Amino acid sequence: MAIRTENLNAWFGDNQVLKNISLRANDKEVLALIGPSGCGKSTFLRCLNRLHEETPKAYSKGAVYLGDENINDPSVDSVKVRRKVGMVFQKPVPFPGLSIFENVTIGLKLSGIHNKSVLKEEAQEALEKAALWEEVKNKLDQPGTSLSGGQQQRLCIARALAMKPPILLLDEPTSALDPISTAGIEELIGKLKKNVTILIVTHNMHQAQRVADRTAFFYLGDLIEVDTTEKIFKSPQRTETQRYISGRFG
Ligand code: ADP
Ligand code: MG
Repeated sequence: MAIRTENLNAWFGDNQVLKNISLRANDKEVLALIGPSGCGKSTFLRCLNRLHEETPKAYSKGAVYLGDENINDPSVDSVKVRRKVGMVFQKPVPFPGLSIFENVTIGLKLSGIHNKSVLKEEAQEALEKAALWEEVKNKLDQPGTSLSGGQQQRLCIARALAMKPPILLLDEPTSALDPISTAGIEELIGKLKKNVTILIVTHNMHQAQRVADRTAFFYLGDLIEVDTTEKIFKSPQRTETQRYISGRFG
């Protein structure tokens, strides 16, 4: 499924941090969002699953179309939106006190599924998709926090995938990980995009080039340029993009 914004604006109080963003992630592509710190990348992702509005004084205007439905409309239930638009954050955060199994199945339980064998099947499927099953299948009752950093991040990805979201948002998912775990997550992204549309915020230019079909450059709340990843890095049209990718600011 595709997700796109139309004239999306976002504020924290009087501080406007996104300005008229119209951007589309096509079905089953990986779209990278790059740009200097503070330019609005995380806020953009958080508008796509209605998380932005959970911050006090934060609000947005404009449309977010998931397929044909404007999910930014106040009449749309934000909890339902978050089941369709999964999100994984920079720091892996398994729920403390919950086992590996409970971490993966918590969303399903909250949405009313309690049948043990269904939960087991769904947990295995999600953990397999997140390339974690083989490593944890014999210790599903251990705490999620007992895993390594890279495993915890794959657990968070499994937790998101368990809801079978058509869209997955990754906000700097490897910036707290070592190079080997990072490579594992990047490989996983390549596999996941067969089934899911992925938006990934990254500070790592090499990572964007390795994983993304298209790349969008944000600067000071504006979408400056979006194109195929190759074009953005080899022949950007805008000087701001050129300056950023050559490391001259940000
Ligand atoms: P990025 O992810 O590109 O680094 P963010 O979307 O996090 O940027 O931030 C965009 C702007 O919004 C920044 O100016 C930042 O200071 C501001 N901002 C982010 N989070 C908050 C918050 N919780 N309260 C107030 N302002 C915030
Ligand atoms: Mg951010």
